[in-house]
Amino acid sequence: MYKINELFETIQGEGSFTGQPSIFIRLQGCPVACSWCDTKHTWEIHLDQQVSSTKMLAKREETEQWSNMSVEQIISLVKDKNYRAKHIVITGGEPCMVDLTPLCLAFETLEYTCQVETSGTFEINVSKNCWVTVSPKVNMRGGYKILDSAMRRADEIKHPVATEQHVDDLKTLLLKHQITSTPVYLQPISQKERATELAIETCIDNNWRLSVQVHKYLGIE
Ligand code: SF4
Repeated sequence: MYKINELFETIQGEGSFTGQPSIFIRLQGCPVACSWCDTKHTWEIHLDQQVSSTKMLAKREETEQWSNMSVEQIISLVKDKNYRAKHIVITGGEPCMVDLTPLCLAFETLEYTCQVETSGTFEINVSKNCWVTVSPKVNMRGGYKILDSAMRRADEIKHPVATEQHVDDLKTLLLKHQITSTPVYLQPISQKERATELAIETCIDNNWRLSVQVHKYLGIE
């Protein structure tokens, strides 16, 4: 069973799959505690916030409500909604707190592609073909360490930046885990002007890529 906070169809706005029509499955629960987190409503799993899948889907604002759903129920919901996207993005919260392999395999059998977005602080249990986006969260309040296994499994590394310290943290991390060929995306935190300038300069200096959270500029989910 998976604790689902949100399930919706939109355009992926970040990283390699930017522009790709996608079905987002947002899981409830994250202990990493990033100060700039824009999904703080997914952090806690309160049992009194459990709702039916119908109520979860009907939400019109960000809440801590979640629905407990099996793989079969999730697939059936996606079919019922007549979503046309064939790319699944499993996000959170921190989705890798649970084994995502059954969910990935079920969707892949139906010819969807899968992607998971994780902080790299939990073991990544996904299908072999699942695209893994590691957005390493260094020195966050929750006290979790970035796992070597996560950095090595990453198909792309997407790093939020606002200060030189964030860039230095990333360089240290890449060196420590000997990551040399994985594509690196820098993502300015909260679309701030200085963060964006820093990200552009750093991308050019290091031949990294820029990820600007296109969905936020478009005003979509
Ligand atoms: S890992 Fe993601 S969901 Fe968790 S606190 Fe950080 S930004 Fe928020």
